Amino acid sequence: MQEPELARFDVVIVGGGLVGSSLAIALSGSGWSVCLIEQQAPSLAPPGFDERNLALSRGSLLALQRLQVLPHLSTPAEPIRRIDVSRAGDFGRVQLRAEEHPVDQFGAVVVARELGEALRRRLQACSDITLRSPAQVISAQRETQSIRVQVQGQQQSCTIQARLLLAADGSDSPLRQAMGIAETTHDYHQHLFVSVLQAARAHQQCAWERFTEHGPVALLPMAQGRYGSVMTVPRNGVEAIAALSDQDYLACFQQRFGWRAGRFLRAGKRSAYPMRMRVAERLTAARFALLGNAAQTLHPIGAQGFNLGLRDALWMAQLLSDQRAGDVEADPGDAGLLQRYAAARAQDRQRTLDFSDGMARLFVRQAWPVRLLRSAGLSLLGLSSEAKRHLATQAMGLAGPLPAILQEQ
Ligand SMILES: Cc1cc2nc3c(=O)[nH]c(=O)nc-3n(C[C@H](O)[C@H](O)[C@H](O)COP(=O)(O)OP(=O)(O)OC[C@H]3O[C@@H](n4cnc5c(N)ncnc54)[C@H](O)[C@@H]3O)c2cc1C
Repeated sequence: MQEPELARFDVVIVGGGLVGSSLAIALSGSGWSVCLIEQQAPSLAPPGFDERNLALSRGSLLALQRLQVLPHLSTPAEPIRRIDVSRAGDFGRVQLRAEEHPVDQFGAVVVARELGEALRRRLQACSDITLRSPAQVISAQRETQSIRVQVQGQQQSCTIQARLLLAADGSDSPLRQAMGIAETTHDYHQHLFVSVLQAARAHQQCAWERFTEHGPVALLPMAQGRYGSVMTVPRNGVEAIAALSDQDYLACFQQRFGWRAGRFLRAGKRSAYPMRMRVAERLTAARFALLGNAAQTLHPIGAQGFNLGLRDALWMAQLLSDQRAGDVEADPGDAGLLQRYAAARAQDRQRTLDFSDGMARLFVRQAWPVRLLRSAGLSLLGLSSEAKRHLATQAMGLAGPLPAILQEQ
């Protein structure tokens, strides 16, 4: 009987979604031997590469430009130059303008599928990265100096030995479970409906967040005057909203959002996502680390999930490059490196989790003291330049210590 193939790599990344692909690109040229394993065939889009719109922070844009991913986008990213946050029925409102901060844009909007395709095209030019796809990791076993993974390809299986195993395998992360890392979860009892809207009025590169008694709705500016829209719906209302015709859905969205962005003319195909926050209790184990949604899955209303996951990837790539610099004997799975990774991610991770969870929860509460505080909070925020600067820094993904690739030169 033929022995299954055994391959050895310094670093093995499981999951070629948006975060795992970005990490592999960031590791190209680092000197480590790197293998990226993705279960979906290259011709089929992985689950994260769908029609959802992603608001990329200024930091993410900078990183994707320096990683030479942006030129591969089939539609250029649409800049966000204004952000407008308000709540139906409350008097406060916050408006952020890029020129007041002073930057040319806070970030930009891309279609997740197009970003996924751009990452794939960029990966093809990284000749030092081994891509195994379609191939699924079906088990992982710890050894003294490595982790051994069993991989099932289309035709045959193989064994891969990793000195460092990095899991970017998404919210359910089979590897997080296999490595015995527990998670805490919170069910928001909501679904998020996503669709593209055509508006009568030009969007002027403004992103809108509006909080309503049913939950938040948001609009992201897209090319050709369209918006990427999201509407949060309590779980008991999901079936009714899913059953609406496009025209009735449009009327429902218009009623919830109001008229600040003008009249909406058409709604495109609708998708719905259940909303759950999932947070891994730690980021590392021996020779193992979590990144992206495998490490934390956030409520998307704050538009932070990929931005945060990309920063996981950028920090890991930097720490690995530093480890390798000038030392060919270095160990990529060194416990010190993993500690530095967990420490580098702690503050940004907690701040971003608090921001996203706070947005998802605070604005749905109806009690009048909460409403009054909320209105007062939004009004004060609208007036205080310090508070607006703080909000803008978070939106731009440039808060706290930054990896070298995110430092403006
Ligand atoms: C509606 C919506 C809107 C959003 N909007 C924004 C936004 O505006 N801004 C923002 O920053 N974020 C946003 N997000 C979040 C963002 O989409 C996610 O954080 C991001 O896509 C996560 O990427 P990932 O690579 O970590 O995980 P995934 O995209 O889930 O990728 C995991 C990959 O691992 C592969 N995989 C899993 N198991 C295995 C295995 N055993 N072997 C091999 N491969 C495996 C899967 O096939 C998949 O390709 C939004 C999310 C939603 C749902």
